[in-house]
Amino acid sequence: MFDSLSAKLDAVFKKLSRHGILRPEDVKTGLREIRIALLEADVHYKVVKEFIQNVESRAVGEAVLKSLTPAQQIVKIVRDEMLAVLGKPAPVDTSASPAIIMLVGLQGSGKTTAAAKIAKKFKKEGLKPFLIAADLQRPAAIDQLEHLAHEIGVGIYADKESKDVGKVARQGVEAGKRSFAKVIILDTAGRLQIDGALMDELDILQKSIRPQETLLVVDAMAGQDAVNVASGFQEKIGIDGVIFTKVDSDARGGALLSLRMVTGKPVKFIGVGEKSDDLETFQPERMVSRILGMGDVLTLIEKAEEQWTEDEARDMEAKFLKAQFTLEDFMKQIKMIKKMGSLSTLLKMIPGMPRDLDVDEKQLVRVESIIQSMTPRERQYPGIIKASRKKRIARGSGRSVAEVNQLLRQYEMSKKMMKKLGKGGQNAGIPGLFQ
Ligand code: GDP
Repeated sequence: MFDSLSAKLDAVFKKLSRHGILRPEDVKTGLREIRIALLEADVHYKVVKEFIQNVESRAVGEAVLKSLTPAQQIVKIVRDEMLAVLGKPAPVDTSASPAIIMLVGLQGSGKTTAAAKIAKKFKKEGLKPFLIAADLQRPAAIDQLEHLAHEIGVGIYADKESKDVGKVARQGVEAGKRSFAKVIILDTAGRLQIDGALMDELDILQKSIRPQETLLVVDAMAGQDAVNVASGFQEKIGIDGVIFTKVDSDARGGALLSLRMVTGKPVKFIGVGEKSDDLETFQPERMVSRILGMGDVLTLIEKAEEQWTEDEARDMEAKFLKAQFTLEDFMKQIKMIKKMGSLSTLLKMIPGMPRDLDVDEKQLVRVESIIQSMTPRERQYPGIIKASRKKRIARGSGRSVAEVNQLLRQYEMSKKMMKKLGKGGQNAGIPGLFQ
């Protein structure tokens, strides 16, 4: 998402930076191009209008900071104004015991998936979650939530026979309290469109269980419609925040930039994939950095930390430095990269990486399959892999002997480099660094 907007904004900024001094007409042209880029990314026209007005008045009125070039100054103003549009981070209120979160939204927006993702997130944070399946419209939704609850190891209340949604919700809350849950998450029914019956049902639910937060789940793929849906829900039942799903898709994403201004409510989470781990707390600063192509090192570091414990990292570093790095370790790393998401997504978060980077994801899979076809001894001592072993490994992995050779060469090269790095450190005598 936002790839095309990022590329366009980047082009505008590059063009501006070619001028040492910015004349008013350069700024005007730049702003016109930014306006078009935002509209093309599906940002709501009212939001675009106000945004451009704010940037323009600041660009004209503000004293130029000495440390910045005029073009950088514009980037800074655009960044500040984008942050203003998105508002401050708004964490979910979990102060009540238990805190009840009710998820609402249209069918297919990702409600049931989001319920499980949120439960998993709170579980990781040590706040005991509990799920209630209150989507009685779609029997499959109950099964889906039960399956997910089981998978992530979280308690759930469901009653497939009942038609009384208020009663199901109340009994669910009681069951959650009995199991000492700290956060209770309720999945509700959706429809293809907003209709009176759905709103009545949600109203009953809100009155029956008085949730601390009613969160609306909207789908990035809905484009501009996501904003209309959000205003509809806000008007009819009142919401406390939004969960914006399918950010990993190639949707244009402008709705994300419009929701707060149009509904007055913050985006609290974003869904970035189909798995139960694919949920991020929405961080406006990070999103803006991503859009403006400054990279997102923070998210990258956080992801790595989540997947790889500090001990494992230290262990791997020691191996690097002593050049004891085996093919087994190589494979561990590949697995970790795969867990963290796609390689191209990770690389794009690094500042300075080209946005249109083309990474051959399949290469990872190929390398992994070759290593998997080796015996543990071969992975530990790759030196023993001679012609006949190479042939066997190639056959086992469905790759060619040339590819096996290439992998072994790459491995040897990285080992040599690590050895050099380790020695260099010791020779340089940097205290405490390479002990
Ligand atoms: P519900 O009808 O609102 O409960 O929607 P579901 O939770 O059943 O989700 C509908 C579809 O969207 C499913 O196929 C999900 O796997 C998918 N989905 C949900 N969230 C995301 C997301 O963040 N990214 C992607 N790519 N797919 C998602």
